[in-house]
Parts: sequence; C-alpha cells; structure tokens
Amino acid sequence: MRKKKVHSVAKSLGLSSGALIKLLQQIGIKAKGHMSTLTEEEIKKVKARISEEKRRVKKEFTHRWTKPKPREKRKKINKEEITATVKSTLAKLQKKEPKKHYKKETPIRTEQKIEEKVVEVTDFMTVAELAQTLNLPPAQIIKKCMDLGLMVSLNQRLDIDTILVLCDELKCKVKVVSLEEQFSAGGEEYEMISRPPVVTVMGHVDHGKTTLLDAITKLRVAEREYGKITQKMAAYQIIYNEKKITFLDTPGHEAFTAMRARGAQVTDIVILVVAADDGVMPQTIEAIDHARAANVPIIVCINKIDLPNANVNRVKNQLAKANVLIEEFGGKSICVEASALKNIGISDLLDAILVKAEELDLKAPINKLAKGVIIEARLDRGKGNVSTVLIQEGILHKGTPFVCGAHSGRVRELLNERMEKMSEAGPSTPVFVLGFSGLPPAGEIFFAVESEQKARELAAQREIIERNRKLAPKSKLTLLDLQEKIKAGETKELKIILKADSAGSVEALDEKLQELSMDDIVIRIIHKGVGKINVSDVLLAEVTGAICVGFHVGPASNALEAAEKEGVEIRTYRLIYEALEDLRAAMLGMLEPKLQEILIGEAEVRAIFKIPKGGTALGCYIKDGKAIRNSVVRLIREEKELAKTKVVSLKRFKEDVKEVVAGYECGIGLEQTPEVQKGDILRFYKIVEEGKEDG
Ligand code: GDP
Repeated sequence: MRKKKVHSVAKSLGLSSGALIKLLQQIGIKAKGHMSTLTEEEIKKVKARISEEKRRVKKEFTHRWTKPKPREKRKKINKEEITATVKSTLAKLQKKEPKKHYKKETPIRTEQKIEEKVVEVTDFMTVAELAQTLNLPPAQIIKKCMDLGLMVSLNQRLDIDTILVLCDELKCKVKVVSLEEQFSAGGEEYEMISRPPVVTVMGHVDHGKTTLLDAITKLRVAEREYGKITQKMAAYQIIYNEKKITFLDTPGHEAFTAMRARGAQVTDIVILVVAADDGVMPQTIEAIDHARAANVPIIVCINKIDLPNANVNRVKNQLAKANVLIEEFGGKSICVEASALKNIGISDLLDAILVKAEELDLKAPINKLAKGVIIEARLDRGKGNVSTVLIQEGILHKGTPFVCGAHSGRVRELLNERMEKMSEAGPSTPVFVLGFSGLPPAGEIFFAVESEQKARELAAQREIIERNRKLAPKSKLTLLDLQEKIKAGETKELKIILKADSAGSVEALDEKLQELSMDDIVIRIIHKGVGKINVSDVLLAEVTGAICVGFHVGPASNALEAAEKEGVEIRTYRLIYEALEDLRAAMLGMLEPKLQEILIGEAEVRAIFKIPKGGTALGCYIKDGKAIRNSVVRLIREEKELAKTKVVSLKRFKEDVKEVVAGYECGIGLEQTPEVQKGDILRFYKIVEEGKEDG
C-alpha cells in the first residue's frame, strides 16, 4: 500500500501540516511530524472526518448568519454588505475562494472551532479579522464595542484585553495565541532539543559593554582560530567549554525593547555591566527595568575592577537598592567581577552564562518549519539585501521559502560571519540570509513556509494588515483610556514611567504616587529616572501598557515622534500636586478631558538684542518642528525649565510671519522677557483638547 507524507496529504486537503497532525490525534492516529507517513486507510478516515466537520460548520455558519435581526436598520445591512465585499476582496487577494473562509491560512483555528468551539485570537486583530474569526457580522462587534464605550472602525486594531472582554460578552470561547503560533500551526507535539542561550549585554554608557564583547570575541578568535571575520554580525556565537553561546551585539536598551514591541522575545539572559568605579547609573537602572519588564534573568558583571578607585561592595549595595539581589546577598542574580580591558573574569562570566542557561533549560522545537527574528538588515553592494536572522525554532535550509513581514522569498544563501556558505542553521544560530525582496525592520519575525506561493499569499496579506494598521486610527494608550479600563474593571494597575529633572524630585514623586495606591487599584512605577523622556522610555511604556509622566522634563523630540507613532501618552507636569491630582482622578474615574500642550518645535537662542524702547528680541534658529506666533513657549536651559510665556512676535528679515519651520533663523519676541542666554532652548507648544491632537 502506498504511503503518503503528512505534509503532502495536508497540502492536498488544503490544511496545514500542524492542523492535520492535531486532527490525526483527535481520531487516534499517531503522527509525530509533517514528515511522518499515512496509509490510504488513514487518509480515508481523515477525509471522512473533514467532510463531517464541514457539514457541521456549514450548518452553524448558516444558522448564525441567518439569525433574524428584525429591528436592524438598513444602515447595518449595508455595513455587512461592505464587509462581505471587503472579505471577498481580501480572499481574492489571497487567491482563495471567498466562501471557504474556514479553510484559510490558519486552518487550525477552524478546526478547533469545529471541535470545541474555541477560536484562536491574537493581540491587535482588527475588528474585521475578529469578526471573521468569530464568524460574526462585523457590525455586531462594532456595536458591542459601542456598548463598552469604544468607538471603533472596521480596520481598527484591538488590544487583547478588549478582544477578551468582547469575546466574553459575545459568549465565544477563545484562546489567545501569538501571531507566531498562528503561523506555525501545531504545537506541543514537536521534538524539543536543547539550544544555546541568547545573551544581550546592557548597562550604562562607558561602563565597558563594547570592550566586554570585544574581549569575548578575541577569546573566540583565539580559541577557534577563526580566520579574519569579514563581516561584523549583529549577533554571533562562541563556543566555550564545548557549549555554544549566542551574543547579541545590539547594545542599547531601545533595540532590546523595540524587538519586544514587535513581539520578539529574543534574549534569554541579560548581562548587566556596571563599572566598579562609577557604580549604578541611570542607564543601569533603565537596563534593570527593561530586563525586568521582559522577565529576563540578569547576570551582573562588575567591570573595571582593575581601576584603583574600583569599589565592588558599593556597587553590590547600590544594586541591592535597585532590587537586584546578587547570590552573595541571598538573591538569584549571579555576580561576576571582571575587567574587560585586562581580560580578568571573562571565563567566570562565560561559566556563569552556562550555569544560568542550564538552569533555564532552554529548548527549541526542531522538526518544524523554521522561525527566527530579524536582528539587523542592510543593503550590501555585492549581495543585495542581507538580513541577520537569529533562528529560534526548527532548522532553516538553503532554498526554503519564507515570509517576513510584508516580504517574502526563498533563502538564496545562508552565510556565516566569515561569509562562508552554510547549508542549514538551527535554533539560537545567527545567520546572514540572502533572498529578501526588501529590508525588514529589526525584530520582525521570520517564518519558513511550505511553499513559495504560500509565502507570497501571506506576505500580501500582511501587507494589507500593515497598510490598515497605518490607516486606522491608532488606539492610544492614554490616562483617559486607562481610567476607562479601571472603571470597567479590566485593569487594577496604573503603570507609569516616571522621569524628572532631579533625583530628588523622582524620589519625592515616586513616594507620593505610591501613596495614591488604593486597596484595589495600585500605581506601579515600571521605570523611574532623571532626564528627558527618551525613545527607550516610550517603547518600554508601549510594551508594558504604561503612560510616561515627566516632571519638569519633556520628551526628547525623537521620543515625541515615537510616542505619536506608538500611541503612548506623555504627560508633563510642573507641580507635584497637579500630577497627583490627575492620577488620583484617573484612579477614581473622574478624569475630565482637558487642555493639553503639544510640543510643536524647538529653537536655539543664538543672539539677544535689547530693544531701545524696552524688552528683548531673540535671534533664534529653529532646530526642530516649527515656531508659531502666539504659541506657548518654554525657556529651557540644561534641561531645566526657567520660564513659560508666549510668542508675541515672529519675524523673518523684519517681516512679520505666522510661522517659521526647522532649518531657518528668525527673530522672536516673548510676552514676558525672562533672563535669556545664548544657547538656551525655546520649546513651542500648541494647546489642544486632550485626545484631539490631530484636529
Ligand atoms: P560602553 O559604552 O559600555 O560600550 O563602554 P566601552 O566598552 O566603550 O568602554 C568605555 C571605556 O572604558 C573605554 O575607554 C574602555 O577602554 C574602558 N574600559 C572598558 N572596560 C574596562 C576595564 O575593565 N578596565 C578599565 N580600566 N577600563 C575599561
């Protein structure tokens, strides 16, 4: 009797191998992976089961769709018509027959639905996708959202909390899966193998991260007599004591959290580098908070112990204060004392990594389609688009079709950092992948798929999702929204990233905010620090669902951009009581929309002219955004706000103008004339009603 492989049977039935494997399990046929074989008898059984399920789905489908809706008005029917058209267009784009929704790229979903009526949902599904998944008219979802006080459009993405509340209201049983799980249907039944740990080095600037990575690289070069490394890779592997360790050479907490923001948990262990002479600094705290928010264990590396003014004990105490308890103090974090420059303690550090890795018992499925994460992508003159992919699951082979965001292709070549060809790469291995149609962003998930056609379909679908994401109004994470969530009982925490102008104010505000916590609603400070609100703060806020609060400090201009893009709210206050009032009001559900200042531009004062009749005119250069006449302006020196007033005159070459944009010089007259110095910064704000920044 001829036997057929699971994957080819799955293909002929229009299912994914994973879905088929699950189905096989349900009917009592054992199949380990998509390379297992099935007899004709078994295939018959499968077919019979599928037809039976199809009948059931059809029945249910018709039942749901034809439910009488006597009081629904024409308008709603139209909406459904529109949705149906949208669906069929989408289906056409995917080159599938519009009617067979339940047989789309994630058959596993349908299958579960049929069996247990449990559907799989992912975070940030659009209303339309959710409707399709639940087999309900989108209008019904939109209506439910309205009942919950949410105004949503068809293409709006919903966060998972909202999705769960909606499903609960609609009495649908759901299971939350990550996008990755959706792609790589199947699951628990894969053969798992141990994999090397993936390590990221973090810490304050100048504490020795680069030197440490260099020391490790040198050790590797010496140990393995690796020839010249031709291309520096953003991730690389070393072999130490016959065990592999993968290092991510992407220092900067932004990169770390940006990857997380895309849903890629890449790092297994964080090495926190703290210089023994300098001690715990703001970015050390930032690194700790980022690692903690990601739930990644920390190994402390106290560096620069060769320096005469090194004070290891002081560092240990400071770390304890920052809640990083090292083993010596009864905690969990391994602490290694090292000098990256003098090559002291490097092997201790590597030993520590191996110990931690063993404790973590890191495993990856092996007999499945490969999955990875983009660490970096760039255009190479000779080779075209080159992406560094860190493989996380399965084994990637040369020639495999893949999809990555809106890009798809076939692995044209796999290269190591010496630009040598590789035939395959397994879990935790970083590789250069050639064959991309464009440059994917770091953190994008890379999926190997069954066929090139499927890769193209998925990429096209993802492109539509991406386009919709850009078009759809971003659901903002604002204090007002949080208030609504608290009211609805969806959250019991108000998460805050707190930045202020001095350590004293950070502590004072932190203490006061903690006092606000009530029995059932608590304030949680995810991260606090001195200085401007930066991109890294915004990203951390995004991934943790926090808002950024600045006290006497504003956002850096790129942070403002990031906040707008990611929909994170930044609230700045000048008085402690204002901040406390707002947050307390939000917790009690009494926050009113209010007027808000939106930063529109920044200028540097380059000259100061005294006007004979009194007052001063400032010769300024607009560095960012624009200055507008009558806008509110804050005078900033060394990140401290000295005054707040208004722009009363704005001139270009003696001409009165309404606004001046970045890159131009202008003369500015202020309503009040504070004591201004050359080099001072003016920040311009417009006043709008909160939540209506775009209007
Ligand atoms: P990064 O900003 O954290 O990447 O720090 P770098 O690796 O660039 O190091 C900053 C400075 O500290 C450089 O001048 C290094 O030479 C120096 N440095 C790094 N590690 C050590 C060390 O173990 N001992 C001493 N004395 N200097 C070090």
